[in-house]
Amino acid sequence: MSKVQGLNKQFTEKDVNRMRNLIQGKHGDKVGQSVGYSKHDNDYKEGDIWEADGRKWTIKDGIKQNITKLDKAKKAHMMPIFCPNCGSKMHTDLDKPYYNIHKKCFNCVVEFEHHLRTSGLYEVYESKIINSEIDNWVNEFKAYIESELHTTNNSFITEQGDVERWVGAPNKDKVMEGLEKTIKHLNSFKR
Ligand SMILES: [Zn+2]
Repeated sequence: MSKVQGLNKQFTEKDVNRMRNLIQGKHGDKVGQSVGYSKHDNDYKEGDIWEADGRKWTIKDGIKQNITKLDKAKKAHMMPIFCPNCGSKMHTDLDKPYYNIHKKCFNCVVEFEHHLRTSGLYEVYESKIINSEIDNWVNEFKAYIESELHTTNNSFITEQGDVERWVGAPNKDKVMEGLEKTIKHLNSFKR
């Protein structure tokens, strides 16, 4: 099944009903019958967890969400107990921000940057870090927008960072246009 077909299939009458319930504040309400839908389109209520397409799903605030995606995002921000570079114990408060970017502890980063300064390579290094951070943002943002279009199919992030929701199919062209603008904006900060 192509992605576009999957997109159309995911947006069923039940989803419309679910959105209607959401707007009316009836989060836990079961909607519709599962006649004619494939297995993963069976009706689920608030808080249910099930597996479909090799991923885990749940209904939160009346909206179908992909748990696997959330788990992955969480794991990406987890920190090991010991620094992979020097093996000393890391401290959440001090080392976490450094580990997120450099994958090593604060002391290792300080030592490494000192070495770069003394060898005159710091400027190049700094711009490389900034550019790769921007690349990360762009990639994360892209992946988020694409997964929103393909999974929940009822919301997108505006340029201002607000979540917009629709009852109905999203205007894909408008979303992609906004995405392009945002990427251009982020890339303009590169050195
Ligand atoms: Zn270290």
